[in-house]
Amino acid sequence: MRGASRFRCRQKGRIDGVGEPAARPRQSAFCGSARSQRRDLRNEYVIAVTGTVKLRDANTVNPNMPTGEVELVADELRILNESKLPPFLPSDTALTNEETRLKFRYIDLRRDVMQFNIEMRHKVAKAIRDYLSAQGFFEIETPFMTRSTPEGARDYLVPSRVQPGTFYALPQSPQLFKQILMISGFDKYFQIVRCFRDEDLRADRQPEFTQIDLEMSYPQPERVWEVVEGFLTAAFRAAGSEIKTPFPRMDYDEAIRLYGIDKPDLRLPAFTDVQECFAPENLQQLAVNPNLPVVAIRIPKVGELSRAERDSIKPLFVSKGGAKVFEDFKRIEKNFPEAAAKIVAKSGAEAGDLVVIVAGSAQTGSAQTEEHSALPPHRKVTPQELAIYASAGLLRLGLAQRYSERHGIFKKTGDPEKDFRFLWVTNFPMFEWDEGEKQWNAAHHPFTSPHEEDMPKLEAGVELLNDPQSALSSVRALAYDVVLNGTELGSGSIRIHRQDVQRRIFRALGMTEEEARARFGFFLEALEYGTPPHGGIALGLDRIVMILAGAESLREVIPFPKTARAVDLMVDAPTPVGEKQLRELGIQIKK
Ligand code: ASP
Repeated sequence: MRGASRFRCRQKGRIDGVGEPAARPRQSAFCGSARSQRRDLRNEYVIAVTGTVKLRDANTVNPNMPTGEVELVADELRILNESKLPPFLPSDTALTNEETRLKFRYIDLRRDVMQFNIEMRHKVAKAIRDYLSAQGFFEIETPFMTRSTPEGARDYLVPSRVQPGTFYALPQSPQLFKQILMISGFDKYFQIVRCFRDEDLRADRQPEFTQIDLEMSYPQPERVWEVVEGFLTAAFRAAGSEIKTPFPRMDYDEAIRLYGIDKPDLRLPAFTDVQECFAPENLQQLAVNPNLPVVAIRIPKVGELSRAERDSIKPLFVSKGGAKVFEDFKRIEKNFPEAAAKIVAKSGAEAGDLVVIVAGSAQTGSAQTEEHSALPPHRKVTPQELAIYASAGLLRLGLAQRYSERHGIFKKTGDPEKDFRFLWVTNFPMFEWDEGEKQWNAAHHPFTSPHEEDMPKLEAGVELLNDPQSALSSVRALAYDVVLNGTELGSGSIRIHRQDVQRRIFRALGMTEEEARARFGFFLEALEYGTPPHGGIALGLDRIVMILAGAESLREVIPFPKTARAVDLMVDAPTPVGEKQLRELGIQIKK
């Protein structure tokens, strides 16, 4: 068989095929006139070879290579392009520092791992697109140059030249456009879309990131969850994992009570409520508030901790609202043997498990005030209780991270049911009190619908806007998050479709009628023209691919990411611009 191939040289004297699937070693051989040219080849040269493909001799067959049974006996070798000596080689086993990788991203992307990650990203996005299209969703584009949509971050602004002094905002999400698409009669919308948020960056945040954004008319939350479970099943299948649906569901309050966080990692044991294990006088002796939660954190298989190790745990505990920690369970066993035995039994602790108790200090105010006992049953977690649970929740995660080698719970088992613990968290509070600003903020975003039964509280609450204890504190949102292994993959809600309710929410958030009209007038107006009930969700594509690729950072799955300082090192952006351009935009830079 005659063959012709284009290659990129990966090591001197060895050539690799280009255009074949990533992560596959490739090989060829030379003979005849090609041999002399081979001497000129250097790393990363691009060449073309013509020759004859023949079976290898039995003793040179390499079963570990896709092309291991054949070789190309080259007649002609042409150098299509040379390469400067690269700062690092795609085949290097030791990774060069990330700055160099990002500056020379086009070389970094040639590495097998990056080819694998980007291919995985493509497959996952395609699986999602195919799934949603088959379910009757239309992929509809929405503008990038638009007005600000509040998602809790700062906007990236684009100055207008035509109308100096005015700015477009890059969308933090297509939220209002997708709602307007529902008003426009497109009942099922989706988009794999870039969003822009100017916020402090972490390993799992980027200033521009990609969401799988969707919206539907007339759904109950369960319908949205079903769609999400469907496309996640397709996405995980594309990456080789069969996940199980439906995902378990948990109320926000329950998540807080059991895990101290609204995105619980179900791979680790939940808290055990050990309040009743102690006799009242025990709690008194321990200076613990009997009206606040007393919880045991259990981390399996940590083994006996030395004194120094126990001391090193203490800084992992960040006390909120008077929470205190008892990290020395041995001492509890010694001083309160009965209580300790009950705790062991109730938490199911086995020999070698680490047990740590978190409780409220006796000095903190009681949670059993009149106001709190008057709270409706679904608002079981009071702000004081939340402080204790949240302190314990962070400690639980800190301990699990610290001892991950010992308990091994985070290691992949190959069983998707164990490796991927999904969860829907539902019934979030509608509002969060901002102590600094002394006002209520939307816990999700201001277009989220309150629970129908909580509407009267909304009425009552807007009369007492400056009161953190007002009825607004117990309004529940029809909002939901999808969580995987303690990471929030996405959040969504059933939306407000009535203009009067929307106005009331803006008012609860401290916006005057004029402010609301100035910012969202177009939307309030659109709501008046026959808006169907609607709801949706958005999930972070980058994060999903990061988890599927087993990558440590979003930068490993985004082709051209930014650094933690929001810089693109390859193109060197952002940069200053010339005086003329600034003048045209009517912008002056203050030194
Ligand atoms: N726009 C929301 C977000 O970006 C998602 C949603 O509510 O659909 O978080």
